[in-house]
Amino acid sequence: MSDVIIEADYLITCNLTNAVIQDGAVYVVDDRIKAIGSRKNIHKDFSANVVIEGLNKILVPGLVNTHSHSVQTLLRGKADDLALIDWLQKIVLPGETSFTTDEVHTSSLLGFAEMIRTGTTTCNDMLTTKYSDYGIQAAIDSGIRTRIGKMLMDVNNGFPDDMIEHTEKIVEDVIKDIGDYHQTQKNRIKYSLNARFLLSCSPQLMKKLSEIQKNYPDIMIHTHASENREECAQVERYYGKSYIRALNELDALGNQTILAHGIWLDDVEYNLIKQTDTRITHNPSSNSKLASGICDVSKYLDMDVIVGLGTDGAPCNNNLDMFREMRLASFLQKVKHLNERVLPSKVVLKMATIEGAKALNLDKEIGSLEIGKKADLFQVDISDVNCIPLYDPISHLVYSASGKDVNMVMVDGKILFKDNQFTIIDLQNLREKATLYQNRWNE
Ligand SMILES: [Zn+2]
Repeated sequence: MSDVIIEADYLITCNLTNAVIQDGAVYVVDDRIKAIGSRKNIHKDFSANVVIEGLNKILVPGLVNTHSHSVQTLLRGKADDLALIDWLQKIVLPGETSFTTDEVHTSSLLGFAEMIRTGTTTCNDMLTTKYSDYGIQAAIDSGIRTRIGKMLMDVNNGFPDDMIEHTEKIVEDVIKDIGDYHQTQKNRIKYSLNARFLLSCSPQLMKKLSEIQKNYPDIMIHTHASENREECAQVERYYGKSYIRALNELDALGNQTILAHGIWLDDVEYNLIKQTDTRITHNPSSNSKLASGICDVSKYLDMDVIVGLGTDGAPCNNNLDMFREMRLASFLQKVKHLNERVLPSKVVLKMATIEGAKALNLDKEIGSLEIGKKADLFQVDISDVNCIPLYDPISHLVYSASGKDVNMVMVDGKILFKDNQFTIIDLQNLREKATLYQNRWNE
């Protein structure tokens, strides 16, 4: 048995009552939270081998990044100032297809490292069509919790030929991957059906995916939808109906589906999302940089649709720091609605934690600091100039702090980052490998 007490000046639970415990602590045994309370009482009731002190620290449930592409991290800074379809066809897809097996591993590991370093403990990750085993291995190696899977594409709409696979081969690969990876690593890794988007996925493939989903427990469909107006127009030409209507007809909506973006919907489509309990991931940096539009998060929340928060990939962000997504999500809604009260910090923090966990159907295990849940959590240092003075710790988490203020990160009871050092990931080796790829691209 391994046990640890983690202290904090402020312990933000993100539980049902939004409890904040001043001078708090949690007691962790192996991979789970066994007790939570005041620092004094936890020390009175328990003694642990390790105590992580909490002076000038906030303790928070691990952030849940509901939409990422770890494998694109080596393309950071290569695809700036382009519209979505050009961005995909000119840089991102050729880049993804150029990766060797080792580069898929390096690119994904670099992405997971950045997420861990900035407080993300769970992500919902799309790999590429080729060598996805190496991306999943990177997730296993990093210690992060993830829903993850290969990228699925069986239609060529001007994409690189070698990204497109036959529908039957995709189905075979997916079933093999589910056997190899789904619910492994003590359930830290779950396989995911990552249909890229309707312009690259045939109706036959989408129908097959919903059949596969019904045959296995706890597998989600993860796809992009209604991100960009030109993309929506192309889908309408290809499918003869609007994006969400097409997904609904393909039996691809439901509480086991998460849609990235969900910006350009009409009222019928909003109602389809609501009626089917489909999950949305809002990705404000990506939507801003690619000039896609502003997702109406307030409307979804008013309709009780579950919305998580995501970074999307490094080429459209260009970082994977969920703190920036929290801040921007709030600011964009205020501007969109010209209303300073929408998406306040408390709501945004819950989107990045327990609501994200709900969006991924993982909320029984993660998303809040509660007895019995997995010990997925992190400490934020509030001693630096950007956090002085402090009236409200949640305000600081959303509006003032950044991922660089994260001091300690734990997943499944294991410390993955502490005092500016990764405990498992070899950052120097990652840096050297990333430089080799950078030089290869520039040749
Ligand atoms: Zn994406």
